[in-house]
Amino acid sequence: MRPRRWTGLIRRWGRYLPVSARTPVVTLDEGNTDLVPAPALAAELDLGRARAEVWLKIEGQNPTGSFKDRGMTLAVSKAAEEGSRAVLCASTGNTSASAAAYAARAGMKCVVLLPKGSIALGKLAQALVHGATALAVEGNFDDALDMARQAAERFPITLVNSVNPYRLQGQKTGAFEVVEQLGGAPDLHCIPVGNAGNISAYWMGYREAKEHGLSRTLPRMLGFQAAGAAPLVRGHRVANPKTVATAIKIGNPASWDLAVAALKESRGRVEAVTDAAILKAYLLLTRREGVFCEPASAASVAGLLRLSREGWLRRAAAGRGRGVVRIVCVLTGHGLKDPDRAIALSPKPKVIRPDLASLAKALRW
Ligand SMILES: *Cc1c(COP(=O)(O)O)cnc(C)c1O
Repeated sequence: MRPRRWTGLIRRWGRYLPVSARTPVVTLDEGNTDLVPAPALAAELDLGRARAEVWLKIEGQNPTGSFKDRGMTLAVSKAAEEGSRAVLCASTGNTSASAAAYAARAGMKCVVLLPKGSIALGKLAQALVHGATALAVEGNFDDALDMARQAAERFPITLVNSVNPYRLQGQKTGAFEVVEQLGGAPDLHCIPVGNAGNISAYWMGYREAKEHGLSRTLPRMLGFQAAGAAPLVRGHRVANPKTVATAIKIGNPASWDLAVAALKESRGRVEAVTDAAILKAYLLLTRREGVFCEPASAASVAGLLRLSREGWLRRAAAGRGRGVVRIVCVLTGHGLKDPDRAIALSPKPKVIRPDLASLAKALRW
């Protein structure tokens, strides 16, 4: 039998993407991430008489550990097709990690602008080790993105932030996969929102999946922002965004209008979740589901728990009787991206002597 290997999302979904036979495919075989059931989380939810089925889309399984690879394979492939020799991005971390890896793969130069002091350790390591030129900007992400946009207009370098339309085109494949994995769209789709590209991309993907006959229904989109960085919830820009979830520490989302359209068209909601709630959800996932995501990713679960507590889920499920409500939470990035947070939230290992008596004493046996 001929071996069959996953060869990345452009080859799998190319017929729905803006690529042609002439597009040089720059890939690390991203996509095809698992959709894992979350029974402990489902048991925490109140849907009245209906039953919740909760699924975690594990985007940390992508080559550089976040969903950003879905957009980056397309953005860098198109940059190569257009003859570009260098890419540029502003980043809260994961975009730079992904851009650096795909640029290395393509033989391109990569410049990343990072808000000084706001990047998780793992992400910084990735950008550096893949050979990107990293500059720490004395400002926040929004300042860095402004600079990157201006620079891309002035200099011969391709901007690969999610304002590059190929990014969202690549990211929409996450929705195609969910539809394929579940045999249709879920009822509710929970997702953290930072620059608001991913919620917009998933909504585009679900709509296209329906147009192409892959799904008969559409989900309601539920977006969650950190309370200290919640411009969409507040309805205005946030000048000094603050949150432990650095990947969504953004005060002026680039895809604001697209996200608002997705929320409206899907009869969805956008809500804020506190850092305390985010970290509580993060520990529920790590300790009870065995799934390690980064803090920003846990915002999708914190938000779902909030909607349950407020009775919103119960009302949303009212028409279902005793039926099943299918819920997908996107876990956008891997937990190892931010090892400092994991360690800070956990007890320090006790130091013991190398003998059985010390072991027994430490464990109170
Ligand atoms: C980029 C990112 C987000 C936010 O996605 P947006 O498209 O900016 O809304 C959330 N979580 C992680 C881990 C990310 O890297």
